[in-house]
Amino acid sequence: MEHYDFIVIGSGPAGRRAAIQAAKFGRKVLVVERGRRVGGVSVHTGTIPSKTLRETALNLSGWRERGFYGRSYRVKQNLTASDLRARLTITLNHEIEVLEHQFARNQVTTLTGDARFRDRTTIEVTGEEGESFQFSSDAFLLAVGTVPFRPDYVPFDGTSIFDSDEILNLTHLPRSMTVIGAGVIGIEYATIFSALDVHVTLVEPRSTMLDFIDRELIDDFTHQIKDRGMVLRFGRKAERITKLAGGGCEVQMEGGRNIRSEMVLFAAGRMGATSTLNLESCGLESDRRGRIKVNPTTFETDVPGIYAAGDVIGFPSLASTSMEQGRIAACHALGQQAHEPPKFFPYGIYAVPEISTVGMTEEEVIERGISYECGVARFRETSRGHIMGLDTGMLKMIFSLKTRRLLGCHIVGEGATELIHIGQAVLNLKGTLDYFVENTFNYPTLAEAYKIAALDAWNRMPQH
Ligand SMILES: Cc1cc2nc3c(=O)[nH]c(=O)nc-3n(C[C@H](O)[C@H](O)[C@H](O)COP(=O)(O)OP(=O)(O)OC[C@H]3O[C@@H](n4cnc5c(N)ncnc54)[C@H](O)[C@@H]3O)c2cc1C
Repeated sequence: MEHYDFIVIGSGPAGRRAAIQAAKFGRKVLVVERGRRVGGVSVHTGTIPSKTLRETALNLSGWRERGFYGRSYRVKQNLTASDLRARLTITLNHEIEVLEHQFARNQVTTLTGDARFRDRTTIEVTGEEGESFQFSSDAFLLAVGTVPFRPDYVPFDGTSIFDSDEILNLTHLPRSMTVIGAGVIGIEYATIFSALDVHVTLVEPRSTMLDFIDRELIDDFTHQIKDRGMVLRFGRKAERITKLAGGGCEVQMEGGRNIRSEMVLFAAGRMGATSTLNLESCGLESDRRGRIKVNPTTFETDVPGIYAAGDVIGFPSLASTSMEQGRIAACHALGQQAHEPPKFFPYGIYAVPEISTVGMTEEEVIERGISYECGVARFRETSRGHIMGLDTGMLKMIFSLKTRRLLGCHIVGEGATELIHIGQAVLNLKGTLDYFVENTFNYPTLAEAYKIAALDAWNRMPQH
């Protein structure tokens, strides 16, 4: 049986970063991946494909130019599903190549197969043809990610009723779609399809969405998506989904109201991919959603030497945070110095429009009893916004009245996921309102919104 210094199960963002970090320490590292190619959900069905789809949809539909040329403007008439897929294939192949090269360059061994524990220090890997191998190590990282939650009442068929992994195999663009689940994934896909002129109904059993985001931002976002014709059916559960004889689907809602559409996307949750790992054999267990509990600083599980990182440990379930968790876990597992995970990290939601946020929401600031002031800027107040024809988009910052420090930064609109990093840097470096007021920003840029929002708050702040 071959022995490795570090064995990583799963080659998504958490596994990939951990393996490369361990290899850079000069250790012998094995990555086991059950998918045909490396990359995980992030590369094959999650982050990269959905963002490529979004970019293609916005480019080919001419979305970004409609502020000037009107809502009927299109770059390409009669957009098809194959137009959307063409760019996807090129992007994915490129991502995988880069990753394979990274593993090869750092001498990380990769193996295709399904891994399961035999005991605390041994795993068995079964390949596609049924062949099996055993490997041992004193340090493991479980970076197995998640799979879509597929409840029994949903008759998934991959042609008109999809989960969020299957939706990428769409063969034609529907005229209408019901999206079940107003979490990040549901909202991203619902708004992307709506930008492609698909009539979208978004269904959510709770009466609100994205509760961890500042409410003022969500109100603005909600107004924008309703304004372009998306229908929100919140506060009631979907109870049954049936395929109709003449084509299309019907979602039967609690309380009796039904929704008909050509396609249904079920995007209400994902489960940790732990059911086949044989966790019991090494004294580990997962919760009812397949998630594994870890020490939030080291990412070690209750079993010494076994670490877990990425989506399998739950919130925030982002590729960005998964990478950092994987790297920190590898450092701890191999007895190397590691920094603590940062307190404030940005959250990016690639809906149309984008949302991005870092630090405390206004609701959290109020709950903590901190005295504060807010500053808001609209993108249409910036010259760059005029040039781009933007009539929507806002940036909001929250400052402490006592220390003048930035407490939170929240953006909805074009470029939000890039712009947020200015707020993130000031927040983590403990900067104040005065940074934005006293510094010069490139002109004309959307980043100028930072200065406008800071001046807006400054008008109401006690002067020193
Ligand atoms: C539609 C969608 C959009 C997203 N958009 C974003 C975004 O814009 N930004 C962002 O930061 N995040 C986004 N995410 C989240 C992001 O994809 C995840 O946070 C990230 O992929 C988690 O990485 P991971 O390393 O935990 O695992 P994953 O990427 O899930 O990879 C886990 C890997 O482990 C393998 N595996 C599982 N079990 C075994 C086993 N027993 N043996 C061998 N291999 C195994 C799987 O095959 C898989 O390849 C999105 C997710 C989805 C679904």
